[in-house]
Amino acid sequence: MTTSEQLFEKAKTLIPGGVNSPVRAFRAVGGSPLFIKSAKGPFLYDEDGRQYIELINSWGPMILGHAFEPVEKAVRDAIQHSFSFGAPTRKEVEMAELITWMVPSVDKVRMVNSGTEATMSAIRVARGFTGRDKLIKFEGCYHGHGDSFLIAAGSGAVTMGVPDSPGVTKATAADTLTAPFNDLAAVELLFENNHNQVAAVILEPVVGNMGCVLPEPGFLEGIRALCDKHGAILIFDEVMTGFRLAKGGAQERFGILPDLTTMGKIIGGGMPVGAYGGRADIMNQVSPAGPVYQAGTLSGNPIAMSAGLAMLRYLNDHSDVYMQLEAIGNKLVAGFSATFEKFGMTYTINHIGSMYTLFMTDQPVTNFSEAKSCDLRSFGRYFHAMLDRGVYLAPSQFESLFLSTALTDTLVEQVIQANEESLLEVMN
Ligand code: PLP
Repeated sequence: MTTSEQLFEKAKTLIPGGVNSPVRAFRAVGGSPLFIKSAKGPFLYDEDGRQYIELINSWGPMILGHAFEPVEKAVRDAIQHSFSFGAPTRKEVEMAELITWMVPSVDKVRMVNSGTEATMSAIRVARGFTGRDKLIKFEGCYHGHGDSFLIAAGSGAVTMGVPDSPGVTKATAADTLTAPFNDLAAVELLFENNHNQVAAVILEPVVGNMGCVLPEPGFLEGIRALCDKHGAILIFDEVMTGFRLAKGGAQERFGILPDLTTMGKIIGGGMPVGAYGGRADIMNQVSPAGPVYQAGTLSGNPIAMSAGLAMLRYLNDHSDVYMQLEAIGNKLVAGFSATFEKFGMTYTINHIGSMYTLFMTDQPVTNFSEAKSCDLRSFGRYFHAMLDRGVYLAPSQFESLFLSTALTDTLVEQVIQANEESLLEVMN
């Protein structure tokens, strides 16, 4: 037994399913999860001393590679001044200033501790502001584990086979309306059938949680127009895309401004941080400025703010990072495509910037039902074939991969080679 296997056996006796977040358990791909001991730059090291090339990067935050020096230094410096005050700090002001500078639609912002808190809070504010109850979300989009969002949710909720989790009340579920991603007509119909009842539309502007799925031309513009027409708040959940697809996230890249934005992952530099922000008139509803209550003992935590500030400052000051990520993503995908061509393989690859998913299907993937038609057994075999070759992927077909600037040309070539060998292994 490996050390990881031993730890997993023990963990299962102490932690539900042996993990603190479901996808980590490898249920979707079979086998036993790796227990990670450390990471630096582009590499992960497990408890058995094996090295892996990182293509998840903590599900997004490690956009500059692991233990990036300026972030590490900021945390070390901050720790000397205690770990939490539960009182306002200079760093929170600096963080708010930087976020409102970087993210085009955000006038005011509130810090929280996770992406889940950010989306739960944003929807409460949208309801408070509009005086309406209903919410439109898209099938396969994941917005954290708040009750309202566990309806047709992507990410781990799909692979666990419980898209509608027990424990979510019928009343809550009834307020969440769902539409297929990229289907404007379906959204229009929901608005018409729920006249003056829809508080908000929430979406991942580029979806990461059914695998990487891009908005078709006109889709984001169409959603913006429908929200305007029906007086609903448009929420971009940029927990994955924020500070990744561009300095100002997907909204900058596509030039469509939402009313509210939810953020997480990169914003904390690897520490537990989330944020929600947007138009000043809407954010002024949040307590104590307004009546919509939302609070947090550790919100704006000084260590987390130090890590996040160091990360965002670096991204803000180095726009070449985004060109670099673009080049890494393009090189990787070009290499994969060359393999497909060489061997007559018909897989589908969705890609934008430093996000991509290789789907085990020969059909285009533009929504959740198309994503679900993939060959999941083949994905499991592919995943393990890559792992055997030292490449760490997300352990599910329904996830995007996240590249970092730490991936050198040589490493990208190694991944391309491993991908070719793994796909050939799957086909035989
Ligand atoms: N929103 C999106 C788009 C996400 O991808 C996630 C997590 O992956 C969340 C919200 C929830 O964030 P957290 O896991 O930090 O609660």
